[in-house]
Amino acid sequence: MRYGIAIDTGNCMACYNCYMACKDEHCGFSTAVSAPQPHENHPWIQIYDYERGNDNRRIKTATVPTPCSHCADAPCAKAAKNCAVYTRPDGIVIIDPVKAKGQKAIADACPIGAISWNEELALPQKCTMCAHLLDEGYREPRCVEACPNDALVFGDLDDPDSEIARRIAAGRVTQLEALEGIRTNVVHLNIPTVFLAGSVYLPDDEVAIGAVVTLRGEDGEEIAVRTNDFGDWEAEWLRKGAVYDIRIELSGYRAETLHVCADTDRFVGEVLLGKE
Ligand code: SF4
Ligand code: SF4
Repeated sequence: MRYGIAIDTGNCMACYNCYMACKDEHCGFSTAVSAPQPHENHPWIQIYDYERGNDNRRIKTATVPTPCSHCADAPCAKAAKNCAVYTRPDGIVIIDPVKAKGQKAIADACPIGAISWNEELALPQKCTMCAHLLDEGYREPRCVEACPNDALVFGDLDDPDSEIARRIAAGRVTQLEALEGIRTNVVHLNIPTVFLAGSVYLPDDEVAIGAVVTLRGEDGEEIAVRTNDFGDWEAEWLRKGAVYDIRIELSGYRAETLHVCADTDRFVGEVLLGKE
């Protein structure tokens, strides 16, 4: 058995319920595997959100909740003395609240900054996946229980029939860049890659409704979308850094082609289709 959490970022609405549930569970309480979490700051699950797009005609946001990833062969464990960080048989990585005292190097070793340094207790602290509750028979950690939008799924990664295994198989898995090459028990799904968007007009300031916009990548990848009732189009999940030929076609009008690099989320501009 290997416990894990799948984080479907596409479902996260940045409500912070998970963060608050974590505070509720850990502030002011010691457990068998942790000392109390401070009341302010020191998030054991961080909610990273950022704006996407280069032009206010098409701006989107993305949210990436990020607790400790519970790495196999964890970098924080390698930095610890006296086996102060250990992995349980169920895969949960624990910082021993007694042995880790004074070991700031443990907090500094996490590549994603998932460990807070508790100055008052001189202790590195992080998510325990609520191991103390699981050991008492609870079904899932408090953050997962608190999520109202099915963005967090807990379960046994080794069981192919589990909900978590099913969600991971069906989703787009994104390894956090800083943890490249490390197997983790927390898996992020559906972190957006790159989008391109634009608007299509016709003579006399009319918007082009239903125009076909076809994006062809250098490797033969092809994505086709249509303009909506406002003449706008958008293509998501593009390969970052790939160059696309974008052909815009509408019956009765001359087709136009753009050549765009998907290096970042981008509004590529307005295109006018002239009459044939
Ligand atoms: S994400 Fe950071 S704190 Fe968590 S196990 Fe990996 S190295 Fe340690
Ligand atoms: S509770 Fe769920 S939806 Fe709300 S911030 Fe956390 S992961 Fe996102």
